[in-house]
Amino acid sequence: MISEECYELGSKSSVIREIFSFGLKRKAEIGADRVYDFSLGNPSIPAPDSVKKAILELMEQPAEVIHAYSPAPGDAGVRKTIAESLNRRFGESFTAENIFMTCGAAASLNICIKALGNPGDEFITFAPFFPEYRCWVEGIGAELKAVPPRLPDFQIDLEALEKTITSKTKAVIVNSPNNPSGVVYTEEVLKGLTGLLKKKSDEYGGPIYLITDEPYREIVYDGVTVPYLTKYYDNTLVCYSYSKSLSLPGERIGYIVIPERLADYNRVSPAVAGAARVLGFVCAPSLFQYVAARCVEDTGDIEAYKNNRDLLLEGLTRLGYTCVPPQGAFYLFVKALEEDANAFCERAKKYDLLLVPSDDFGCPGYVRIAYCVAEKTIMNAMPAFEKLMREYH
Ligand code: PLP
Repeated sequence: MISEECYELGSKSSVIREIFSFGLKRKAEIGADRVYDFSLGNPSIPAPDSVKKAILELMEQPAEVIHAYSPAPGDAGVRKTIAESLNRRFGESFTAENIFMTCGAAASLNICIKALGNPGDEFITFAPFFPEYRCWVEGIGAELKAVPPRLPDFQIDLEALEKTITSKTKAVIVNSPNNPSGVVYTEEVLKGLTGLLKKKSDEYGGPIYLITDEPYREIVYDGVTVPYLTKYYDNTLVCYSYSKSLSLPGERIGYIVIPERLADYNRVSPAVAGAARVLGFVCAPSLFQYVAARCVEDTGDIEAYKNNRDLLLEGLTRLGYTCVPPQGAFYLFVKALEEDANAFCERAKKYDLLLVPSDDFGCPGYVRIAYCVAEKTIMNAMPAFEKLMREYH
């Protein structure tokens, strides 16, 4: 008898992957330029030049350095460089000891959830949310509870959160800028969130941890800033990734910040190392640890995403679509033109528009449009969006 749970997870691919595969088939049939594929969150802008330069320079170093196993938490020099960068940018006082290098945000989150949680615990997140949270939380025998968004701005509904917290709540997972809504949570809302977590931790006599999922931290528009949550709440673990900021999703590199101010720091820190060990991560890719340190404050050309956001938001609003105003990441969350977003996405396929229904994000009735695509894909897709709208009028 094999694991039913793993069989279930592995035998059905995610809705996003299914749509992406359909797109590949369609592109082979009618040509790539006639399929408007908005399904995947794969960065469309290239990694900055500094990444290539760093790789080429690193290749001159002895193989036994750049390709070797690093210590499990990562190379000490790399961790120090990252800690110093965070201190400079966010007024923190981290050291190398507070940084644990990982294989991207997926690994960071999975490790934090396993390190903190026990079977029967509850983790809370905010809809719409990244669907993999469910599989990581349920993977340790815990329960994921989703708090619906505050409408119409898709910020956090603090009243609903308060009702969801129980004595079993181990941690709250927050993702800003958000995939799939593109919303950046305001400082006011985050102060409300951290205030509530302090109050509830006191009430239940134990810490409720905050896990922040931040792969899109640098992808923000219109001068918006993303508050650094360790400054607001002591029991915060930060899960970061270079997948989006440096356009390196296939290289699997990121880190966890484990601040000393955490309740039970002396046990949480080894538990993070233990979770990474159980999950078989061994260490993060060595070459890309060194690349990350050399490019620690670089990003790709964020303006290109802003340009796409403006084109899409303006074009769809003009056609009569209702969009959640996005201030970050590279996703637009749009109200489906019928109650069932799956049926709406099927209709969109008739025009070779590939959109993702929002059900798996825990917020039915919407579609996600990933605008990390070439500008011309957005321009060429507009007539298709117009025809789709006409079907409903
Ligand atoms: N969290 C969110 C909200 C994401 O959108 C993604 C990837 O798209 C991840 C985590 C995983 O990112 P990584 O590639 O760094 O594992």
